[in-house]
Amino acid sequence: DAVINKIAAGEIIIQPANALKEMLENSIDAHATMIEILVKEGGIKLLQITDNGRGINKLDLGLLCERFATSKISKFEDLESVATYGFRGEALASISHIARLSVVTKTADSQLAYKAFYLNGKLTGPNFKDSGVQAEPKPIAGKDGTQILVEDLFYNIPSRIKALRNKSDEFAKILDVIGRYAIHTGHVGFSCKRFGEPVYVLSTRPNLPVKERIRTVYGSVVANELLDIAIDGATSKTKEEVNVKESLGLVSVSGVITNANYNNKKKIQPIFFINHRLVSCDPLKRAVNAVFQFFLPKGNHPFMYLALEIDPKNLDVNIHPTKREVRFLNEDEIIELIVDKVHLILSNVDT
Ligand code: ADP
Ligand code: MG
Repeated sequence: DAVINKIAAGEIIIQPANALKEMLENSIDAHATMIEILVKEGGIKLLQITDNGRGINKLDLGLLCERFATSKISKFEDLESVATYGFRGEALASISHIARLSVVTKTADSQLAYKAFYLNGKLTGPNFKDSGVQAEPKPIAGKDGTQILVEDLFYNIPSRIKALRNKSDEFAKILDVIGRYAIHTGHVGFSCKRFGEPVYVLSTRPNLPVKERIRTVYGSVVANELLDIAIDGATSKTKEEVNVKESLGLVSVSGVITNANYNNKKKIQPIFFINHRLVSCDPLKRAVNAVFQFFLPKGNHPFMYLALEIDPKNLDVNIHPTKREVRFLNEDEIIELIVDKVHLILSNVDT
């Protein structure tokens, strides 16, 4: 039912940045190495994501925005070991219920690219018009990869538009999400532009070292002193440490923290990725912040980027798409390990 689908979609996508995050993850899943984003009016008028990933087969375009149309999971057991971001097949379907969604895509083995238009989960004729006959993707010239256009987000939910902050706030949220992925996903280059403006607001190349990525995204906001943090087989000194880690189902922790003063009042929320998903984890945030407070002068805003890899069995992947808060087994013990490590790092440097 169209109304129910619309309401459900509006609960998953509450702001343009939510839609953008889903599409970034799709491009990363499709093995893109370059992702370009164009934004008009805070993403409400237009969100355009262009990637050089493997594209979508023409035959799959018919069902692309159908609910649960995912190419990423074929049997139930796969759910336990999902390595990709997507596994629900709900994002594009949802977006198509609350925006005009169109796709241009080309796989390497196809001569042509195809353009397809979607409304309410269904393929439509060109320019979202009911073509009368069965709608078909249109062959056009194009490069390998996928471009997705989301236009007039929430056009059919006026209350949602009213509830949004102003356009520059929405743009800032979009930029924030892109920046976080740019920091974590180092093999991919990201760029972002506002519609009609020639300059990039953000631009990274693929394969930059992590600290360079951080400085590219945050500039002088992040102080020069960036310290590595790592808990893995290579740096864990004792066999005991390795055993503890393994018994907790923790594969590795890596990231960057800073001990230095910010020259900026702006606070950057900690960046956490767990098994390559951008998440929030309040217990971890509180615990690490407490250590920072102990070492750093008051009013200091520490920067922290942590990427955890956890045995997928121990991770609750079945969280609602809007809930970024994650749960995992042995959470307290794992947080304690990380806190000890941060403590050790900060006590070995001058602050
Ligand atoms: P999910 O990511 O959970 O599978 P989505 O609704 O996000 O569901 O996407 C549906 C499907 O569309 C994906 O499984 C994938 O096959 C395809 N797809 C979406 N975006 C892209 C892209 N940028 N490149 C290639 N395929 C894509
Ligand atoms: Mg997806």
